[in-house]
Amino acid sequence: MTAALESLMLPKAHTFAVAEHGAFIDGAETGVNEHAIDTLDPATGQVITRVADTDATAVDRAVQSAGKAFEGEWGSMLPARREALLHRLADLIEENAAELAQYDALEGGKPLSYVESVDLPLAVEQFRYYAGWPTKIQGATVPVSTPDTHVYTRKVPLGVVAAITPWNFPLCQAAIKLAPALAAGNTVVLKPSELTSLSSLRLAQLAIEAGLPAGTVNVVTGAGAGTGQALVSHPQVAKISFTGSEATGRHLGASAGRSLKHISLELGGKNPHVIFADADIAKAAAYAATTAYFYSGQVCFSGSRLMVERSAVDEVLAAVREHADALVLGHGLDRATTMGPLSSAAHRDKVERYLETVAGTGGTVAFGGNRTGESGYFLEPTAVLNPSDADPVVAEEIFGPVLVIQPFDSAEELVPRANSGKYGLTAGVWTNDVRKAHTVARQLQAGTVWVNTYADYNAAAPFGGFKASGFGKDCGPEGLEKYLETQTVWMSLA
Ligand code: NAD
Repeated sequence: MTAALESLMLPKAHTFAVAEHGAFIDGAETGVNEHAIDTLDPATGQVITRVADTDATAVDRAVQSAGKAFEGEWGSMLPARREALLHRLADLIEENAAELAQYDALEGGKPLSYVESVDLPLAVEQFRYYAGWPTKIQGATVPVSTPDTHVYTRKVPLGVVAAITPWNFPLCQAAIKLAPALAAGNTVVLKPSELTSLSSLRLAQLAIEAGLPAGTVNVVTGAGAGTGQALVSHPQVAKISFTGSEATGRHLGASAGRSLKHISLELGGKNPHVIFADADIAKAAAYAATTAYFYSGQVCFSGSRLMVERSAVDEVLAAVREHADALVLGHGLDRATTMGPLSSAAHRDKVERYLETVAGTGGTVAFGGNRTGESGYFLEPTAVLNPSDADPVVAEEIFGPVLVIQPFDSAEELVPRANSGKYGLTAGVWTNDVRKAHTVARQLQAGTVWVNTYADYNAAAPFGGFKASGFGKDCGPEGLEKYLETQTVWMSLA
């Protein structure tokens, strides 16, 4: 690996990043196998290291290990002890935050300062929030109309959870799955994206350091079609907790249906971000630009479909452009960087294809749209003005730095258009009219609606999509509930 990379990283992080890694099974890393996958630095296109493409035999060992921990030490641990260990893991993430942040900035191409200020605190918050739950998980007594009978319910964990995460928030997504699954008493086999394995592997080490029994958290690295498929097909996996694309979600949903496994799906979005002319336009436009280009638009809740009341379009476009012009594109580990590359060459090609067809459907590329940088997968921040609702740039999740801007003339016209897409993850509404804010917010078909703000996220607030954005909420009590099932006990007192 280049000396340049070494100079950008903490010595400990650099050593871990460039070492070859195998899966993490039963408390220790296995070696790299002959089918190892290269992981690339998306800012340079250079190979960072190789990680094991874990095969079905090793996946089986990981699931067996998780099953043993579930039947054994973790499954029988007293709730207060489980709480203490999850808090200890949160402490260790905080203590190692600088190191962990570098892995996601390197492999994901994300600006380090954002990873430090967004991803790491969110990951810690997940463990802290759910660490509070084990001593509060309880059933109920049930007032059945049967004489001389006592009925009560128990909340019980499911068993081994297959947690599958995407590349855009590797550590954060691992935490969003591990914290509630473990708090509920399950054990986990985590499969991170093959593009971004490092922070998940390091998290598994920290789980052991925190005192979680071996096998409670396992990590199988590798590709989706091989490692991922072997994991979700394993008969001993009780639940699939998936975050990723709609296409993979549909495939896993069908497979879980056939095998009757529990499944929750956190999928993509094409999120209407609405600005009415009576809003604080400067503030709304600043949020619109920030949430469109944050992590190069590679965010499920990106406000990527900006719908602006016609009289405010010019002002909003000018403000968005000013924000875009000020972005500094560069390596995620370079502290000057405010926007990184796209995740891979193939992904950049896909984003560019959307821009090629836009002129044919009435839209124009208002600015951006070009490759930039001497190496890596950079694309300029881009805005597409006035495409038709049917254009793929409006209907589909592009997952790149492409903001679509569409004018509208009234709330009555806006709502059905905003709801016309297949997704329903998030939406935003900017207006100073309280009645309009509440009316439009409740009419929008989205799992989360932000009013006069955008992209707020907290472990206590349920987050998850409607329609093709999936089902099963993260965060809050709902985020715990999906890792539990209810057992009903009937006792005769006769
Ligand atoms: P992806 O679907 O390509 O991959 C996600 C994960 O699934 C990866 O670990 C991959 O290896 C694995 N996978 C792929 N095929 C599999 C199979 N057959 N069996 C088992 N596992 C398989 O998605 P991605 O490109 O990594 O992530 C981007 C997507 O994630 C976007 O659509 C984004 O909107 C979505 N996302 C959603 C949320 C949310 O909370 N709703 C959060 C982050 C990202």
